[in-house]
Amino acid sequence: MEFRDLKAQYLKNKTAIDNAIQSVLLSGHFIGGEPVKQLEEKLAEYVGVKHCITCANGTDALQLALMALGIGENDAVFVPDFTFFSTAEVVPWVNATPIFVDVDVDTFNISPQSLEEAIISVIKEGKLIPKAVIAVDLFGQPADFYAIRAITQKYDMLLLEDGAQGFGGRIGNKKACSFGDIATTSFFPAKPLGCYGDGGAVFTDNDEWAELISSYKVHGKGEDKYDNVRIGLNSRLDTIQAAILLEKLKFFDEEIDICNKVAEEYTLRLKDIVKTPIVKEGMTSSWAQYTVCVQNSEVRKKVIKVLNENDIPTGIYYKRPLHQQEAFQFERQYNRKNCSVTENICGCCLSLPMHTYLDMRDIQYITEKIAHAII
Ligand SMILES: *Cc1c(COP(=O)(O)O)cnc(C)c1O
Repeated sequence: MEFRDLKAQYLKNKTAIDNAIQSVLLSGHFIGGEPVKQLEEKLAEYVGVKHCITCANGTDALQLALMALGIGENDAVFVPDFTFFSTAEVVPWVNATPIFVDVDVDTFNISPQSLEEAIISVIKEGKLIPKAVIAVDLFGQPADFYAIRAITQKYDMLLLEDGAQGFGGRIGNKKACSFGDIATTSFFPAKPLGCYGDGGAVFTDNDEWAELISSYKVHGKGEDKYDNVRIGLNSRLDTIQAAILLEKLKFFDEEIDICNKVAEEYTLRLKDIVKTPIVKEGMTSSWAQYTVCVQNSEVRKKVIKVLNENDIPTGIYYKRPLHQQEAFQFERQYNRKNCSVTENICGCCLSLPMHTYLDMRDIQYITEKIAHAII
């Protein structure tokens, strides 16, 4: 069994994807070109924002966003303590300071209440300026953007949406990657919309930021890439990946619908045995992960062992709160508050196989093995 069955997805759509790749090979143009342009238009339309700028990966996308927003020294950037490393990794790259914020016990997304407390404490300390929040759409569910936006407005801060896991999710009918002043996503193969290598994109309604990002991603270009008006980076989505994504976008919504059915079935079968994911009223998840919590880390070990013995892959996202990562120990002076919800989740969370090609028998098999391990 696969954790995310990218091979089955390819085989099902083989002819269309092969043709798309072939046409790029035959064109002889491997960087930029029509597929990239078309993809950016399609993605902007899909999300419902004015600009989409593709780039090399989701981490670069975040960095480009911070650069465009002019975030730098003496700025505090608030990030959830429970997320992939990238979300916070980019903050020191622009010389700003990440402040880790605890997450909501139900959604695992940044807690608006903890966020406001963290902002107030940074203001009281008086060393850093609270500049921006990076809210993550963790495991596919959009963050609590209406509550978070109220806070960023109150404190005159910028809001960035890390939609690497959330692409395709929504609040009501409003799509993920449309909530931040700037939003980013990743096309890493295992993400909801994945390509066959690395890829990423930045979304915004703001013309000026879009222009800056387009420049920063091509060596800080002015008129062209040989006219360099600022220090940038080299961050491109290549043409073959764009062609693949254009094909995959055609059946993307259908896949999200199926993943939602898979999640429903999991929850139905697991809700009395483990803590199943909670998707808040009005939210739709794109199910980057289906993550449950078991009683404790000992139980988790046992469940993983039983599942592995039965050829069922699992993942632990994430084992360690960001504030405990060795790389962030230099930030300790600003991060003395504990993040107890994150610490608890890290000790007991477990992600199960989640993709379109799981059928009801697979889910029955997986959930029975979990039940055997626990009960
Ligand atoms: C995957 C991921 C990223 C980074 O994406 P890459 O394309 O791997 O650089 C950033 N943030 C979150 C929350 C992610 O899950």
